[in-house]
Amino acid sequence: MPDIIHLLPDNIANQIAAGEVIQRPASAVKELLENAVDAGATEIKLIVNDAGKSLIQVIDNGKGMSDTDARMSFERHATSKIQNIEDLFHIKTMGFRGEALASIAAVAQVELKSKRENETVGTCIEIDNSVVRKQEAVAMQQGTSIAMKNLFFNVPARRNFLKSNPSELRHIVDEFIRVAMSFPDIFFSLTSNGQQVFHLERGTLKQRIVQILGNSYNARLVSVQENTDYMNIYGFVGKPETAKKTRGDQYFFVNNRFIKSAYLNHAVMGAFDEMIGRDSFPMYALFIDLDPAQVDINVHPTKQEIKFEDEKIVYAFVQSAVKHSLAQFSITPTLDFELDSSIQNLDAVTKPFTEERKTSVASSSLYNTFSQKHQAHFIENRSELKHWKDFYEPARPQGGSNEGNQQQSLRAQDFSLPDHTVLHHAPFSVSDIAQLHNTYLVVQNDAGFIVIHQQNAHERVLYERFMKALDGKPIATQQSLFPLTIELAPTDVVVLNELLGDLNYLGYHLEPFGKNTFVIQGTPADVDQGSEKTALEKMLEQYKHFSSDLKYSKREKLLRSLAWQQAIKAGKALTQKEMKSLVEELFMCTSPNITPNGKPTYSAFKKTELDKLFGR
Ligand code: ADP
Ligand code: MG
Repeated sequence: MPDIIHLLPDNIANQIAAGEVIQRPASAVKELLENAVDAGATEIKLIVNDAGKSLIQVIDNGKGMSDTDARMSFERHATSKIQNIEDLFHIKTMGFRGEALASIAAVAQVELKSKRENETVGTCIEIDNSVVRKQEAVAMQQGTSIAMKNLFFNVPARRNFLKSNPSELRHIVDEFIRVAMSFPDIFFSLTSNGQQVFHLERGTLKQRIVQILGNSYNARLVSVQENTDYMNIYGFVGKPETAKKTRGDQYFFVNNRFIKSAYLNHAVMGAFDEMIGRDSFPMYALFIDLDPAQVDINVHPTKQEIKFEDEKIVYAFVQSAVKHSLAQFSITPTLDFELDSSIQNLDAVTKPFTEERKTSVASSSLYNTFSQKHQAHFIENRSELKHWKDFYEPARPQGGSNEGNQQQSLRAQDFSLPDHTVLHHAPFSVSDIAQLHNTYLVVQNDAGFIVIHQQNAHERVLYERFMKALDGKPIATQQSLFPLTIELAPTDVVVLNELLGDLNYLGYHLEPFGKNTFVIQGTPADVDQGSEKTALEKMLEQYKHFSSDLKYSKREKLLRSLAWQQAIKAGKALTQKEMKSLVEELFMCTSPNITPNGKPTYSAFKKTELDKLFGR
């Protein structure tokens, strides 16, 4: 029998290794950007075509490579960044494994040009399938340009595995942002299919954050800065009012490396506790610097987890730093403070919040404003806070704990009918609908009554209306008399561009206007004039919220977002006419009983059950 074990040829070994490092265009983007940062560049340009599938190019003005280094850089385990294992514990560069270029050269056609400062000419190398095709001298500026074409041209299985262009582009934008955010003193640009998506001038961290996430954050960032012998933290958190439905704008960097950490995220969320709704997410971009010996970055290159020597200290530190900043911002009046001066001088605003005060303040209409603006008192004293919460949200019957009492036995499910159609058959009286708590509509027929949740019901109505619109019955548009422009963060531009066609059917006529701007030419007839912009922003927000959910198509996400956004909210007083048409439209729906997300729209109560309650 012959021996059967043999060494794999380099190109195959590299291809296999590449599978770990380069999973999609965005992973190559990350590696190339990090190399440019490590090379000390002050200007880094990223160019992609077809979401990186046909071209990814990074051009930097960093220190460049010699002829030999340029060739060596494509060898596996070839790096200039560490010499021995000790170096791993005080690593200052983004890369150190020496795997990225070797991997890239194994799965794409690569052209590298590089020139060092004192060299008269640079060198140009062409390489594919891990084989150098040619190397020659080239005239160029100092720095390096790497262009990788036709990613996975030789690994069709991987190529087929890639997602749609918009989706791959979004991954690229994410990676770009993570690098650009941690190096505000480097100029970055991103050009996609010839269109410049980002142009980030050098500046402060705050300027960089605003450039990336959009102007709306400009006056709404609270600075965080705390230095100790063990670690430093700096960065910004968004004021509570900027909290969004999406987790999107949350960034942690440890020693300038973007990381994902549910644990540290929890620490920040804890600092915001009670200031924001339970299902909203504050913006943050926080940088933690600590001795590299205290962290283990020797994890998988594409994973963003990190191990701290002492996790608990980091947690406590992050939480208290953020709390501290939030407390400071709410005590110190700022320019965008909204209460007028007569109100600001009231005791309720200036004095600490005591047990006594609670009662007196609660009865005034100021109470709500107060509870949102002056959170500082609450931050300092958690136990008081708990109390305050109970007070603010009047006790609700606790499900299950006191089964059997009168109030409990009125729960909807005891009465609700197995099938919504039963009540359907007898006509509802829509001539005199009662609205309770500006939220619930009560409609009766001979068999009983139903209680409709107005927001849930409207969401269903809109959802089905929009679905029909996309099936070819476009929604009526009202043309804007004075077309507004809407300026978006570059990431949102990418998203909105994907949606323009469908939005047109749904009554939104938008036209791209310059780089990050769209002109609103028309909106659906039932969107109030003046709130078009907010409507669009909220819709995008919700759309991104759904984006992490892979099971929905783009259209489905759009439908759900719009329906959610445009639905009448709970708490809004409705006229008889509005209630009547809502109820009628609801029961013309294909699935009137649930929202698109599966929440009930109404509960039905039989008259006979009511009778029973009263011994009849
Ligand atoms: P690593 O970054 O882990 O060292 P890479 O495969 O990414 O491994 O790069 C290999 C080497 O090539 C680097 O150590 C660096 O010396 C050199 N190199 C890569 N990109 C650049 C660049 N843009 N400018 C200068 N040198 C570079
Ligand atoms: Mg590298």
